[in-house]
Amino acid sequence: MNHIKQLPDLLLPWYMANARDLPWRKDREPYHVWLSEIMLQQTRVEAVKPYYHRFLEQLPTVESLAQCDDGQLMKLWEGLGYYSRARNLKKAAQIITEQYHGNFPETYEGLLSLPGVGEYTAGAVGSICFGLPEPAVDGNVLRVMARLCADSRCVDDAPVKHDIRDALRLVYQQTENRCGLTQSLMELGATVCVPNGEPKCDLCPCCAICKGHCEKTAMEYPVRKQKKPRKIEEYTMFVLRCGDDIALRKRPEKGLLAGLWELPHTDGHSTIQQALDVAGKWGCKPYEAVSLRKCTHIFTHIEWHMTAVYLLCGSKCGAFTWVSLQALAEDTALPTAFRTALPDFKQP
Ligand code: SF4
Repeated sequence: MNHIKQLPDLLLPWYMANARDLPWRKDREPYHVWLSEIMLQQTRVEAVKPYYHRFLEQLPTVESLAQCDDGQLMKLWEGLGYYSRARNLKKAAQIITEQYHGNFPETYEGLLSLPGVGEYTAGAVGSICFGLPEPAVDGNVLRVMARLCADSRCVDDAPVKHDIRDALRLVYQQTENRCGLTQSLMELGATVCVPNGEPKCDLCPCCAICKGHCEKTAMEYPVRKQKKPRKIEEYTMFVLRCGDDIALRKRPEKGLLAGLWELPHTDGHSTIQQALDVAGKWGCKPYEAVSLRKCTHIFTHIEWHMTAVYLLCGSKCGAFTWVSLQALAEDTALPTAFRTALPDFKQP
C-alpha cells in the first residue's frame, strides 16, 4: 500500500477546487461536525440538509441538546430513522456538558467513549475538528481504498477494515492537513469513486496511482459479503379517527423503533369487515370505513407490507392515546413507517 502515501498531495488540491458547499463544512465547530456525521449515517446528503438546519435552529448548542425535551428531540429526528442515534446524541451531550464543561473531548479515546460514537465518527470529528491523525473509515472510504489498492479481501471483515485504517493512519501521521484529508477522501467516495456503477476515473485526481483503474478492475472492488434478503412482515395498520383525534400508542422500550409512537396494528392483512370487528373489540365503536389501501415501508433488514385502514369511530377507547391532527403534524413524532399508512385527512 506504499503508493497511498501520495494521497494528500493528490487529494488536497483537488478538494480545494471541487469540494461541495455543504452546511456542515462552514466551520469546524465539533458540535456541528458531530451532528452532521451522525445524521449522515445511512442517510443521503440532500435528505439531511433540512434536518440539520432545523435541528440547529432549535438546539443551537450542545447544552441546549443536553437539556431538550425528548418529545422535541424525536420530532426533530422524525423521518430520519434509526432513532437511537438521536437518543445517543442527547446522552453524549449530557456527558459533554457535565463531565467536560461543555467542550468536546479532544482525544480519539475521549471521543470514542461518548454514546453513539464509533471509530468512524471519532475519526471524523477528531481529524476534522482537532487535527488528530485518525482516519474516518466508512463504506465510501473502504470502497476508494479497495479500488486504489486492488484489494480483493472482503471489506466487511473487521481485520480487513482495521488493516485499511492502519494503512491510512500512517498517511495521516505524515500530513498536517488531516481535516482536509478526511474531507477529501469522503468527497472522492461520494462524488467520483461512486458506489453502484462505474467510478468516474477520468475525473479522479488519483487515477495515476490507482491499481484498480490501471488494471481495469476497479468495478470488481470492493468485495462485500452477500446481504441476506430482507425479512417480510405483514400488518394491518389502523388509522382510528374520533372527531379530530387519531389513536396512537407507544411501542415497547426495546427493539425496532423502541419507545416511539405507533399506529395500532395487527398481524397479517385484514379485510374491511375484519378491521371493523377488531376496532369494535378495542371499544372504538367504528361506524364508517373511509379507505383501505396497501403500502410498504423498507427498513435495513425488514420490509413491512401493510394494509392501511382508515376508520371513523364513535368512542376514544382508553387503550390508546388520542392525538389531535394538529399535534400529529406539529409536535408528535410518528416514524415514517406509520406516516406512510396515514391517509389524506382532507377526506371526511
Ligand atoms: Fe476510484 Fe477510479 Fe479514482 Fe481509482 S481512479 S480511486 S477507481 S475513481
